[in-house]
Parts: sequence; C-alpha cells; structure tokens
Amino acid sequence: MRRYSDSKPISSIIRREEKTDPTPEYQRGPVWSKKQKQLLIDTILRDLDIPKFYIRTVNNGQYEWEVVDGQQRLRAIWEFKKGLYKIAKDADPVNNINIANLSYNDMSEDFKDKFESYTLDIVELADATQDEVAEMFLRLQNGSTLKAAEKRNALPGEMKDFIRELAKHDFFNNCDFKNKRFDFDQVAAQCMLLELNGGVRNIKNTDLEKMYLENDEFDFESVEAKKINKVLNYLTRTFPEKTPGLKQGNVISLYIIISMLSEKYAISELETKIGKWFIDFETKRSADLDLPEDQRDSEMVAYQNAVGHSSDSIESLEYRNKILVRDFFSTFNKILPLDGMREFSYEQKLAIFRRDKGFCQLKKECTGKKLGWDDDWHADHKIPFSKGGLTTVENGQVLCADCNLSKSNN
Ligand SMILES: [Zn+2]
Repeated sequence: MRRYSDSKPISSIIRREEKTDPTPEYQRGPVWSKKQKQLLIDTILRDLDIPKFYIRTVNNGQYEWEVVDGQQRLRAIWEFKKGLYKIAKDADPVNNINIANLSYNDMSEDFKDKFESYTLDIVELADATQDEVAEMFLRLQNGSTLKAAEKRNALPGEMKDFIRELAKHDFFNNCDFKNKRFDFDQVAAQCMLLELNGGVRNIKNTDLEKMYLENDEFDFESVEAKKINKVLNYLTRTFPEKTPGLKQGNVISLYIIISMLSEKYAISELETKIGKWFIDFETKRSADLDLPEDQRDSEMVAYQNAVGHSSDSIESLEYRNKILVRDFFSTFNKILPLDGMREFSYEQKLAIFRRDKGFCQLKKECTGKKLGWDDDWHADHKIPFSKGGLTTVENGQVLCADCNLSKSNN
C-alpha cells in the first residue's frame, strides 16, 4: 500500500461524486443528523480546519475512489451543494454577512466561491488490499462511536466473510427487526459462537471479537458452518414469512433451542407446530408483563429479568433456555430422542419433573414423596422400555429412590 498526501478544493470533490463509492462494505450507513451536516458547512464557510479525508484509489469500472474515512462529511458537502438542506437558522453572520437559513443557491457568488475553493486535506491510498483498508478504517475509527458489530466488520479474515454471508440468510429477513448498523451480523455472529462452543456460553462483544480473530482461516465447509446453515434453514421453514414477535432479544434463545433439538430429537416436519409454539410462548410472556405485580407467573418474571439484564451472559442464556426447554417438552411430550436410547435426556427430565411438580408418582414405598430437583429421584418409563414404552415426556414419571428400587426388583 502506498500513501499520498494531497489537497483538493471542494469543487473537485463535487465533480467526483459519481466516481466515488461512499459506502464500501466496511463502512457504516449514513447516520449524520442535519445539525451535524450544518455544523460542517458552517465550519467551511468560516474557513476553519476540518480533519483529513482518507480515500482509496480503485479501478473497478464503476468507481475511482472509495471513501475510507470522511464518508459523512463528503455526503454533507454533496447534499448541501444540491440544496438538500440549508445552513442552520441560528447561524452567526460571517464577516458581518448573514448566512442563516440559506441554501447553496441562496448564497452570494462570493460565498459560493468561498465554499467551492475551500481545500480538503486528502490522503490517497494506492494498491491497498481489502484487509489493509479495513484495518486502516478500524484504526481511524478507534475510540469513536462505532458499534462493536461495525468494528468487527472491519476486521480481516474468513470469519468476518462467513458472518457477512450468514447475515444475508432469509431467516433474518423474516424477523421483526431491521438490519440497522449490522444487527443481523451481530445475531449471526452470536449463533456462530454458540455453535463453535457446542452449547451455551457468554456471547458478549469481546467474545465475538475474539472469535473473529481466532478463526481468521475459518473453513466455510466445516461441521459448524454446515450446522448453522442447517439450523437457519430449519428456522426459515418454521417462519417462512415476516413474523412479528421475532425480536432481536429472543431470536438467540430460539436459535439455541432449535440447534439443540435438531441435534438430539426427531423434529423434522414439526416446523409449523414449533413456530406456533414459540409465538404462543412469546405471547404468553408479553401478556404476563401486563399483569399486576402480584398476579404474575414467577417463572415469567425471572425469564423477563434474564432478558433485561446482561442478556448476552451465560447465566441469562442458560436460565432462559431452561424455561423454554421445559415449556417445549410440556407441549411436545411425545417427541422422541434420535439416539433411540432408554435414558431420559436432561431436557425431558426438566419437563417431567415440572409436570409432576417433583412428587413421586408410584406411591408404593412412599405416600407421594415431594422431591427436589437435586434430590435422588428417577425418571421412570410408565410403560417399561422393555415392553415397548417410549422415551417420551408423556411416558415418563418422577419416582423416589425407594419406589424405583422396588419397581426394578419386580
Ligand atoms: Zn415413592
């Protein structure tokens, strides 16, 4: 990469508008307010200094320039020239001449000259690779107000490219939030980190950044890459249209449970039912929020707290997942584990225990003992496995240790 310093008048920048790509991939969208734009024009008309612009020279047929840093300011200049906004209503006069509330065309010829001849300091980057430019952008923005997902998007490496692709998956478009400032990338990256970890963990911005850096040679054909696409495809079939209720705050919990289910349970062809179940759960949850404090379901209150407080922490994700899993297996109590094993899974046990409220169901050696989750209890097949009883929540029940021993001795 070679760097050249240059200075050019605004007139030359205006001429180059068509040949300038203001939003290469690593850039954020236009977010300057009118006030910020007006302040820039005011600064120029007073002949005060503004920071350097960084431009990458490219030759891709369409563009000659790519803006590495200064996108917001260039847009402000182009838009002012086109009369898309005026100087601020409360702008002070310049050299005793009033400029308040004037558009470009309203200004005197002298002020137009002043504006167009103002020189901008430009650093031109030639023969720069995508990674070099992205890194420069990141360094220039450091300490400013870039969101974490925007910073990560400027990192070099394969993981960034993989997440960029993943964020274009149809499923995200069917969610009820917009891809504002890389929000789809944020959720996609969180899902990816959970897959790489093989289960729930912290998915905070520092964890995501680490994932990008450690997986800069990520294989698009890896097991994890295939798995995440499989889960997102399942979710697209589950929610084939734009679905109100799929919020940024709950989509990650939805991903966690579907990822687990698709690995361990027979859920093919249950897409429609699962979609309905999730929306029903969310409806139940928001209805609970509207109830008076003393009438609210304590589980829902705890779930809500977990959503509200550091929702990207392992504690919050685990708690929400436990409640979702219990609710899922209460609804889908005939669902079978893929391994065809006799043992009830942790998820099934959660639902069995909750349904039986921890009471021993056999009452042979006891009178219906009340057990705690951590006590010695057994998840038992009502119809024995040996007689064709299925390993489903429906066919499971809580037994105390004594009743279990007595049953297995018979
Ligand atoms: Zn018992």
